[in-house]
Amino acid sequence: MQIYKVGGAVRDRLLGKPVTDIDWVVVGATTEEMLAKGFRPVGADFPVFLHPKSGEEYALARTERKSGRGYGGFTFHASPEVTLEEDLIRRDLTINAMAEDDQQNLTDPYHGQRDLEARLLRHVSPAFAEDPLRVLRVARFAARYAGLGFTVAPETLELMRQLSESGELEALTAERSWKEISRALMEDQPQVFIEVLRECGALKVLMPEVDALFGVPQPEAHHPEIDTGVHTLSVLEQAARHKQPLTVRWACLLHDLGKGLTPEEEWPRHIAHEHKGLKLIKAVNERFKAPKDCQELALLVGEYHTHGHRAQELKPSTLLALLQSFDIYRRPQRFEEFIAACEMDARGRKGLEQRSYPQADYLRGAANAARAVAVQPLLDKGFKGPELGEAIKRERLKALKAYKDAASA
Ligand code: ATP
Ligand code: MG
Repeated sequence: MQIYKVGGAVRDRLLGKPVTDIDWVVVGATTEEMLAKGFRPVGADFPVFLHPKSGEEYALARTERKSGRGYGGFTFHASPEVTLEEDLIRRDLTINAMAEDDQQNLTDPYHGQRDLEARLLRHVSPAFAEDPLRVLRVARFAARYAGLGFTVAPETLELMRQLSESGELEALTAERSWKEISRALMEDQPQVFIEVLRECGALKVLMPEVDALFGVPQPEAHHPEIDTGVHTLSVLEQAARHKQPLTVRWACLLHDLGKGLTPEEEWPRHIAHEHKGLKLIKAVNERFKAPKDCQELALLVGEYHTHGHRAQELKPSTLLALLQSFDIYRRPQRFEEFIAACEMDARGRKGLEQRSYPQADYLRGAANAARAVAVQPLLDKGFKGPELGEAIKRERLKALKAYKDAASA
């Protein structure tokens, strides 16, 4: 049997990027031989094994044939006769379809190296269209390598466009889509992921709620970029620049969905867009079965981001209600993430990227003031049950009044 390094490990070494996980392909071996060498099988009918020591993935060289809709609709054929070239041709991009032996000899039948130099994300063969997930993968690689100057080859974009129009994207499972979306959002330029999806028509299929934001104007005084879609991309760009976690990036992407529902007569104003957007945020959350923390933060940021921007103007009672909504006593981290998302929203505007955001410290201070209210003295006074709750609330309100007065003095 011959063993080759394939995929991302080869690509990233040639790009001079750090290699994190290594995928291997094994040519000329049978499942029995792999098991005899101590490899552990990954799936029942999938010719992929884990190395007994390193835990890295070793796949038997295989060919694939499309036999139905979606990812389940593939027939694999793995046998010792399948050649390296045959295995490489089923891969998505030319830069992912190179192999390397233990002497660093490159096998590159589809000119991945040439495309690396040309900074092009190009599909290997027309079979690209057999797995719609590749549309998301290409957009994700575009987001990752945009900083190096990579773009999607026009003919690949055209294939992605055909795939998006064919209805095949709808056959993707939530799990597979979310894996790509979440990884793409964590790349250096997540806004490029959304841009590429939009360019090939996939955004309209996957997240029509986000697609609808393009072409919707906002008041120029607050939004010099005017377009709500452009604003959303900038917010995402800021979130990546400030190394925000996935929860914040997801919330940034969805925070303004309500603006897509505003009747044109009301443009460029978007009255109550925060509240109107909630059902859309919920729909997108559920469509991709986003993790609970992402879902929660997106809904809270959607509902309250304008409160965040107006923090210093909020009445103490409104401020308290805001803090209660976030359950700041038990979930301090989530409130920090809310503040971060608001800050990214404020900076994701043309020419305002460097602005300061004093609301952040004001909100933190308010949360601390509310948290500092001690319960013991109220217990000592004999409060209990609902009355205790009321008493705590009164004290917190008092503390927030004092905080607001001190801050504006
Ligand atoms: P990363 O750095 O994100 O791990 P990668 O290129 O290694 O990038 P993997 O998802 O680990 O990506 O897949 C390994 C290789 O398998 C890819 O380089 C590609 O050749 C192939 N591959 C993975 N998924 C697909 C797919 N859906 N369609 C075609 N080829 C794929
Ligand atoms: Mg990999």
